[in-house]
Amino acid sequence: MRLILLIAAAFTFACSDGSNPPKPAIEATPAQKVELDQSSKADTSKKTMAKTTAFDGERAFNNVKTQVEFGPRPAGSAANEKAREHIVRELNSYGLKTTLEEFTGNTPRGKVKFKNVVAELPGESPNVIIIASHFDTKPFKEFTFVGANDGGSSTGALLEIARVLASEKEQKRKFTYWFVFFDGEEAFCHEWSECLDGKDNTYGSRYMANRLKKEKQLSRVKAMILLDMMGDKDLTIPREEGSSQWLVEAIWGTAQQLGHAKEFPSRPSSVGDDDHMPFLRAGVPAVDIIDFEYGSAPGENDYWHTKEDTLDKISPRSLKIVGDVVLLSLPRIEAQIR
Ligand SMILES: [Zn+2]
Repeated sequence: MRLILLIAAAFTFACSDGSNPPKPAIEATPAQKVELDQSSKADTSKKTMAKTTAFDGERAFNNVKTQVEFGPRPAGSAANEKAREHIVRELNSYGLKTTLEEFTGNTPRGKVKFKNVVAELPGESPNVIIIASHFDTKPFKEFTFVGANDGGSSTGALLEIARVLASEKEQKRKFTYWFVFFDGEEAFCHEWSECLDGKDNTYGSRYMANRLKKEKQLSRVKAMILLDMMGDKDLTIPREEGSSQWLVEAIWGTAQQLGHAKEFPSRPSSVGDDDHMPFLRAGVPAVDIIDFEYGSAPGENDYWHTKEDTLDKISPRSLKIVGDVVLLSLPRIEAQIR
């Protein structure tokens, strides 16, 4: 999936959007200002923050299990189609409308049809917060790769996040939410940047960011939260330093408050590339929540892109920790968007 993992001090993104929250495009009216100020205050009353949510770790895990049972799910495969159908069925059962974003991409294996799934939860504002995952798995000829963690975990968790937020529909959230399941995150060639001048990856996210830009919709997207490889039983998600820092602060700060500092350590790391990057490059604040230490010992990553990436390596507990942290960080994120 990723190309490299480096200590942040040794790695700087030229395209990072800096560490400040986005500025308002237009000046808020006094009434709006009062409302925003109040929500900021409400958000900072740390003592009243819930410690858990309706996110059901077992349910999320079962979503992952269903994905894994379809077998390897590379873009363009029959199993990928089944996985996507399952995602759409689930989202519809939560009362969410879904759209398919279909396109054909040139890959090292010829033309491939990709389909992203986008579910919308309308909010008070047409402005959007995206929560995303990729659902495809990396194609391997040498062995069966089921991607329980890489592709499966974040997909299962995102479905559960969508279910929880959709169930609160009677009290509309401040922002509209898009739950996006990207197709074609993985490279067809063995290495991430080996083919097509480094563009043999992130097909779905690049397509969506481009489309939104062309349709002049991209400015509606105020934040993007990406989940990837976050189901590991031994969960360790360092601060992703290539991400927008105000989103990192909001999410890792929430994790600390919830008592998950062990799983969300404050040490930095940087992931070279992922589905958040096309959005970050286009000026959308974005964050990658990724555990790139997926292996047989702490600090190792030897389960990644191997036949070892199986269900027994992930846990409902880890899925719930990330689900709770994301859900409980949303008020803080919403309060910072002007
Ligand atoms: Zn991968």
